[in-house]
Amino acid sequence: MFILTCHAVFGEIKNGYEKNISGTKQSLTILRARLLGEENMTPAQRRKIQSTIATLVDHVAYYDLTEGLLSQFKTIVPELYAQIDTISDRLGRPVDVYIKFVPADATSVKAWGLTFMDQSSDDKDAYQSEYGKFTVSVKVWIVRRSLLVLAHELGHVKYQVPNLASYSEFHKNHYTNMPARTSMGHDIDDPSGKWANQFGKTFQKKYSDFQKISMEKAQSPLDVLVRLRKSWSKNALLIYRMTRPTHRMQNQLTTPAASTTVVASARVKQRLTGKSIFRLVNTGEAVVSAL
Ligand SMILES: [Zn+2]
Repeated sequence: MFILTCHAVFGEIKNGYEKNISGTKQSLTILRARLLGEENMTPAQRRKIQSTIATLVDHVAYYDLTEGLLSQFKTIVPELYAQIDTISDRLGRPVDVYIKFVPADATSVKAWGLTFMDQSSDDKDAYQSEYGKFTVSVKVWIVRRSLLVLAHELGHVKYQVPNLASYSEFHKNHYTNMPARTSMGHDIDDPSGKWANQFGKTFQKKYSDFQKISMEKAQSPLDVLVRLRKSWSKNALLIYRMTRPTHRMQNQLTTPAASTTVVASARVKQRLTGKSIFRLVNTGEAVVSAL
């Protein structure tokens, strides 16, 4: 009863990939079983299944990466995490915040992080996103400083959820007739931008403290993603090799997947070299208004 009450009162931080995750894992199991069980499949049929498996592996890897990063964020700055995990709008209604870590350049607006802002048509205080009414959608690029970008975006969320109606007006008046730019949300008197910067600063301080006491070296999300993909792909390939243990086919399957991943992550890493954290966040981030 107590637990039910808690869930009714608070919103939550959620993994943006979670919606289809059990179905995705189930599909992976079924497809792997088919590769094992059906001996009379044509090479074309096998390749098609293998390609679907690769897509599903990708989804599961992004889900796992997001789970891991959210868990790290909670460990490093539990006070920031808790503020967003229990957020509600001006009228006290719980709002869920869906977070996705996405490949760099995958978003329509080229920014390190995006907090989408949209109002329900019949309720100016009700936030909405592609996840439904009373939800916020946040997307963060998978880069070396992903957690700092996340902190910054959650600062925007912290202000915008309980002040949606008034902030939407402010946003319209400030940014509507301005030329397209990626620093929306950061005019000098923009309260959302101030919260975002404050959350970012708090994260940096806590992260620095955390590094002093942590036994484990922090890993780049890019490296973690490469490892997750390899691990899930290897599981799929192990089963495949049991059915078709030819050397030629094995090479065809492993080489393209591995090299594509490595090239992509190296390119992003190179672009990050030598730039300061604040400059990256402040110039490359936007609040996207769907109003
Ligand atoms: Zn911002």
